[in-house]
Amino acid sequence: MSNELFNFDKILTYLPTEELVVSAYLLVDGGRVTKKGYLSELNSMIAKTKENIEAASGFDKSKQKRIFDTLEKIKSYVGDLFKNENEKTLLIYAGTKSELWQVYKLPIILKSKIIVDPKPHTQSLRSLLHNYKKYGVLLIDREKAQIYQVYLGEIKEYLAAYISEVPPKVNFRFESGLREKKILGKIGEKLHQFYRMLNDSIFDFFKEGKFDYLVLAGRKDIINEFQNYLHSYLSAMLIGTFEEEPATHQHTILEKANKVIKDFENNNINQLINKLIDELEPRGFGVAGLKKTIDALMADNIKTLVYMEDYIARGYSCPVCGHITLKLLEKCPYCENPLVNFNDIVDEIVESALNQGSEVLPVNENDKLKDAGKIGAVLRYKFETK
Ligand SMILES: [Zn+2]
Repeated sequence: MSNELFNFDKILTYLPTEELVVSAYLLVDGGRVTKKGYLSELNSMIAKTKENIEAASGFDKSKQKRIFDTLEKIKSYVGDLFKNENEKTLLIYAGTKSELWQVYKLPIILKSKIIVDPKPHTQSLRSLLHNYKKYGVLLIDREKAQIYQVYLGEIKEYLAAYISEVPPKVNFRFESGLREKKILGKIGEKLHQFYRMLNDSIFDFFKEGKFDYLVLAGRKDIINEFQNYLHSYLSAMLIGTFEEEPATHQHTILEKANKVIKDFENNNINQLINKLIDELEPRGFGVAGLKKTIDALMADNIKTLVYMEDYIARGYSCPVCGHITLKLLEKCPYCENPLVNFNDIVDEIVESALNQGSEVLPVNENDKLKDAGKIGAVLRYKFETK
């Protein structure tokens, strides 16, 4: 299942047809919304979508019915089958006639919305995918090795399996000392060739963009031995190792790999926040606190957005141009449409940042960010806030 779960290629390469696709984003983050809350949000989005479709011309009755049926299918999936396990956003792509039915559980908050179009709505998804690094996990032994690609916390692709020509067991009992030495020498040579072949092969995967960072797993002595063979580029991308027996179940490997990855990512986030705090404007490239972060966002000036995962803030946003503000104004200052009041504006901020091509990092725990207002950003350029 896990391979299918994060296989986005089918969606990202989808070719539009006559038939329509429903894309439904639903914020299900347990820290922000209850099941009752997101079900009612979904119901009202579905009602609104139906209204719009009925009002629009160009939908014949049968096309309209297929859209409505698809919306009902989504509703019953979310109500009856979906169980939230720490996901932030549920994303469903459903074809109104075709077999297309893809469900993704995303680890980041996105604005709830339903879009009916000839092809899947992927703008937020594409920006989001740029945020995540791919990790190669090489499980290595003297006789065999395997490499997986871990992406978004799941094994996305099984890249390759390798077998060395070294015989698994050599019986030395009846051999003379000299002969034994020769065989051992040969095994040394075989192992040397195996390590070299492995290094070449994973370096090719790296060059093909199959992974950004590398994790090594296996017995400690083997990992140490193999590290001497790693290409210097790969050495620089090695973020950690863990001990593992060769015949371990994938599930265990993933769990241990995810721990190494999580530590690496947390460490990066902490460093980034330290830098942000050191660089707070007007001197440098950092802003902290909701107001200043929104100002930077509206100036298209956010390189990296950071926010505490549990952070909720009220605010207003313009449904037409996307302008976000903390002040209730009569009309949007840019397009004069009425502003909408949101109990939680953070998902709007996240989505707007993603759509500007900013990196977005949710933070689980960090006292410095907490003290600085739970949200902040590293800027693209220095600017003065009012
Ligand atoms: Zn506006």
